[in-house]
Amino acid sequence: KAHFLISAPDIRHLDKHLPVETGIEVAFAGRSNAGKSSALNRLTRQNSLARTSKTPGRTQLINVFEVEEGKRLIDLPGYGFAKVPLEMKLKWQKSLGEYLQERESLKGLVVLMDIRHPFKELDQQLIFWAIDAGIPVLALLTKADKLKQGARKATLLKMRAEAKNFEGDVQVELFSSLKGLGVDVLERKIAQWYGE
Ligand code: GDP
Repeated sequence: KAHFLISAPDIRHLDKHLPVETGIEVAFAGRSNAGKSSALNRLTRQNSLARTSKTPGRTQLINVFEVEEGKRLIDLPGYGFAKVPLEMKLKWQKSLGEYLQERESLKGLVVLMDIRHPFKELDQQLIFWAIDAGIPVLALLTKADKLKQGARKATLLKMRAEAKNFEGDVQVELFSSLKGLGVDVLERKIAQWYGE
């Protein structure tokens, strides 16, 4: 059912085109290549709803998908490109912080992290901002199929322990778009945030 609604070049434009008072939204964020597009496509059962920018550093858009009237998924641009100029990075971080603080319709944040490189600095920063803004976080350890069962489980337990340091509502789960692992947890969490 999910379909593309609008794109915005930045948070300010998003506010203009999509007033904060209307509806409920859940945002998806992650370092580029973390598996965000794959997760969105898997979640919505559509192969090409979300597409990755294959050009690192190119200006990326915020894409808004509507699941049903008043219920939206927000695909935030991937972060962590090494080649992006510092000024652009800082600008993006600032607006992301503002978005989490000010966007009243935002009820939850999904942070996608490659299971082999979890909780990098920018991921942590983002989670701190979300907690600060009172927004619950679902941290997905993506591409879990890349690790063997034992290592996967060990990483999950370790990351759950680490997530306690945030002192906020941060739930950590395994995820694999490829194998469909964790999709049910993601669906349930979003339904909860949507108030279903
Ligand atoms: P994005 O930049 O965060 O949107 O990442 P993509 O969804 O485009 O995924 C980046 C790369 O990781 C692509 O080559 C995907 O095929 C791969 N990938 C994404 N999800 C999975 C997964 O669950 N398992 C495996 N093995 N690879 C994945």
